[in-house]
Amino acid sequence: MKEAKFYEKLANEKIQCHLCAHECVINPGKRGICMVRENQAGVLYSLVYGKIISQSVDPIEKKPLFHFLPGTLSFSIATVGCNFQCLHCQNYDISQYPRFHEKKIIGDDLTPTEIVARARSSHSASIAYTYTEPTIFSEFAYDTAVLAREKGIRNVYVSNGF
Ligand code: SF4
Repeated sequence: MKEAKFYEKLANEKIQCHLCAHECVINPGKRGICMVRENQAGVLYSLVYGKIISQSVDPIEKKPLFHFLPGTLSFSIATVGCNFQCLHCQNYDISQYPRFHEKKIIGDDLTPTEIVARARSSHSASIAYTYTEPTIFSEFAYDTAVLAREKGIRNVYVSNGF
């Protein structure tokens, strides 16, 4: 858990999250639509910082990118949660996990340094933030992406663009 970025404090300990176009206004003790950003006494927290629900070494073409580092591997990660609730989601079991499991947040505890080390040891040329919507774990993705670039690893953000 880490204090979130991109939010504004309102009156009576309410906050407004500006991370995505939902622009959720969140009362104390409540979460945004993505179910992973929570107002605790007037401070917004990312509940999924470092909580990795999925990690896999994929071909870059699965992202799907064709002309970007073709033929290389991409170390791919996700947390639970999403700002959409698409009926056709192929990863609904993780994207909607908190919604259908009493708001629980699950995942392995990993730091940005550990993610970058795993990417290097798997000979991945990039790290992909994917499977669920990476915007909702943006603080963790950003910290990881900065470290990755320092080590010569590229970053791939597979987003719904909202
Ligand atoms: S990131 Fe989550 S809490 Fe923030 S505006 Fe989007 S859905 Fe709401």
